[in-house]
Formats: sequence, C-alpha cells, structure tokens
Amino acid sequence: MSKDYYEILGVGKNASKEDIKRAYRKLAHQHHPDKKGGDEKKFKEINEAYQILGDDTKRSQYDQFGRTFSSQGGHGQQGWSGDFSDFAQGFEGMSFGDIFEDLFAGFGGGGQRKRARRGSDIAINLEVPFAESVFGGKRSVIIEKRSACIECGGSGVEKSSLMKKCGTCQGTGTVRETRRSIFGSFSSLAECSICKGRGEIPEKACHNCKGAGILRKQETIHIDIPAGIRDGEAIKLTGMGEAVQGGISGDLYVKIKVHPHPVFRREGHDLLMELHLPLSKMLLGGDETIETLDGKVEIKIPELSKSGDFLRLRGKGVPSGRGHSRGDLLVRLLPKLTKKLSSQAKKLLADLEKEGL
Ligand SMILES: [Zn+2]
Ligand SMILES: [Zn+2]
Repeated sequence: MSKDYYEILGVGKNASKEDIKRAYRKLAHQHHPDKKGGDEKKFKEINEAYQILGDDTKRSQYDQFGRTFSSQGGHGQQGWSGDFSDFAQGFEGMSFGDIFEDLFAGFGGGGQRKRARRGSDIAINLEVPFAESVFGGKRSVIIEKRSACIECGGSGVEKSSLMKKCGTCQGTGTVRETRRSIFGSFSSLAECSICKGRGEIPEKACHNCKGAGILRKQETIHIDIPAGIRDGEAIKLTGMGEAVQGGISGDLYVKIKVHPHPVFRREGHDLLMELHLPLSKMLLGGDETIETLDGKVEIKIPELSKSGDFLRLRGKGVPSGRGHSRGDLLVRLLPKLTKKLSSQAKKLLADLEKEGL
C-alpha cells in the first residue's frame, strides 16, 4: 500500500482543514489500539498523516515534495560504474529552514531545541526515465556548493599547525560590547567576530582556504533512486547540503521528475497498458506476445474477450516499499478496427451476421 497521506485519511487533495480534522478524528477513534478491533499500525499511520496534513506549512511542503526518502548520501559509496553525464537540472540553492527536519520527527516533546550553526539546505531536480522510477537506479550529479576544504577538513588550520586561544575574546568566544546612550551605558555579550565564537583561531591559516575552512566547489554526488519512487517525491541526503564553518552541513533534497511512458501508466503499484487486437483475436482468443518492463511476455487472450476487458499479470508492476512484492500489470484489451473492409472480409462478416455474431 502506498503511503499517500490523503489516501490514508480518505480525503481529497483539496480537502479543507476542517475536513481533514474530521476525517482524522473519525479514523483515529475507529482504529484506536485500546479499542476492541483497534489497529495500532493503522492508528500510527493515521496520526502520521494528520501531523503533516493538519499543519498548513507541512502540508504545502508535502504537496510540493511528497514524502521524502532518507538516503545515506554519496560519500564512501564506491564500486559502481554509473553514467556521469547527468547534471542536476534547475539547480537552485534553497533553504527550507527546519521544516523538513521536523517533518518526520513525530510530535509532542515540544521544548526548545538548541540550534547549532547549520549550512543551508539545497534542492535540485532530477529527471528519471519511467523504468528507472519503477526499478530504482543509481545516478551521479555534479553540483556546486560550499564544502569543507579538503586540505584542512574544514578547520581552517594549516597542517602541522595547531589552534591557539583567540586573543580578542581570551578564548571565551564572546566579547562584551558597551554602548553609551542618554540613559547610561549598556553592556551586552556578543559573539567574537575574530574566532566566530569558537574561542580558538588557527596558529597558521590553511593555505588552500585562507583559514575559512569552507570553499565553493563542484562536487559529484551519488544518488540511490529507490525502486517505486513517484513523480514529485524527494530523496533526502542528510549532510550533503551546504557546509558551514564550525557547524553541521545542511541537507540535499533531490526532487524526482518521472518521464511519462508512451505505453505504461502507473496507478498505485499497478501498471496499466492498452493492447489493441484484431477483432478475430478478440473473438477466438489465442497467444500474444507483449513487451513489458521486464521484457517480452507471452499472454493468453481468452475466447470472446470484450472490449475493455483487463488481463492481470501478477508481479509485473511497481515494487512496493522495501519488500520485494510488486504490483500487477493490467492489460486492457481493445479491438483494433481496420480502416477499410475488403470485399472478402465483407463476405465473411456477412456470414458471421447469419451466425448471429
Ligand atoms: Zn575570539
Ligand atoms: Zn583549508
């Protein structure tokens, strides 16, 4: 089952806030695990859906990016030969703030979180062929971003040199600022601008980054595209966003755009295709070879097939979740009518007519 939050709550994409709340209450009541016949898994799912759709900001993020998939990111992923020709398209540096951070953090808890310095998140678009969205794949993209300097690992310190106490703030990382006004003097603590609040500065600055620790450069990012990903969903690569000195890097969001397929259409985890057959084959039935995403498959057309009948090919659809079960391929049978009838065909059809067909 796909995890569409609208589907889970049984509401349409245009449902009002009230509708969502009502649907949530009804379902939560119905599936509450303390109740007889309750279903804890379902209950959790309903809650998760409501946490997103019940919140205007999170809902609009969800509408825009769908569910996000966490990926382990590219560093240390080796041993595959991919095609390096794919560049990120429509690259843009965007900061989502903490919206995504909170997205699946659950709810409750509350309280104030201490914020460390954090680099900006980056969002890129990636177009993938239909088959790749079904079976998954590996991609490499090159993006330009602020990254930790490879010479000093982001510290800004020259190799073989050490850190020393910042003379400006005496190692405290803060300086006292005094301002005079007509009401008297005020003093307050501010971050030391020399050491950026760290209390330490390099004895000798890194030659490569001049002590900044961070450089703007191109980096190749390896992306694992999960099987079954949908158009509009995003892959999250934690820590692959912009780096910031003395803090943690932001995240990279890869928004997937799936190319439509000329033959197959996706519906949930099923694939749909149309198969046009001569009228005689619809009536008499017989073998037919079709091209599926898994290659050629022989199917049996039943005798007296009606226009619009479906044949179900089990397990030839889209993989669902982490398990290996796959949806089905539904083949819709339609008669292929000729543009012109030969006199011979007319004669045969006249005979059929006598048979009452
Ligand atoms: Zn300082
Ligand atoms: Zn450096």
